[in-house]
Amino acid sequence: MNSKNESKEMLKKIAEEIKLCKKCILSKTRKNAVPGEGNIGKKIVLIGEAPGYNEDIQGRPFVGRAGKLLDNFLRSIGLEREEIFITNVVKCRPPQNRQPTDEEIKKCFPFLEKQLEIIQPKLIICVGYIAAFSVFSKFGIEFSSMNKQHGKIYSINNLKYTLKIVATYHPAAILRNPNLMPLAKEDWEKIKEVI
Ligand code: URA
Repeated sequence: MNSKNESKEMLKKIAEEIKLCKKCILSKTRKNAVPGEGNIGKKIVLIGEAPGYNEDIQGRPFVGRAGKLLDNFLRSIGLEREEIFITNVVKCRPPQNRQPTDEEIKKCFPFLEKQLEIIQPKLIICVGYIAAFSVFSKFGIEFSSMNKQHGKIYSINNLKYTLKIVATYHPAAILRNPNLMPLAKEDWEKIKEVI
């Protein structure tokens, strides 16, 4: 197990790699790659889909409207965003905020895997289908739909990992469809019980 300082250094190195990455076409249109940020002491990682317009400009995850809503959810369970590590499955903005392609996800995923390997999270919160589908698959859990699986806490206990993983609605989806808000609030209540 690495010390916290070693882990921070390793995360910094990966962030540098991400900033220089040219493995897919998103590198041609990005202004800034968005490796992720936050603290690792609580061993909580929140994973979104991909940076949007504001994130691309600032090089930081979840800083636009969806990010403000995310901050509110985190506060509602007693967490400040700085206390957890926030990142995305895909580290560069897809043009016009389209969904990342399978190819882009596949090329970028090793970065997330390295980040998780270093942080060794106790809890992973996936926001939105893309994050949930990709990350649940990595841990051998089938993710069929957000409507069926949101708010369910899955425990993974094997030789390599002991952690909990949960999916909830993407804040951008809630902004588009406010009917999702009560469901999302219930999910965050459940998350509160396991932190
Ligand atoms: N949406 C995401 O999935 N990630 C971000 O960083 C911002 C918006």
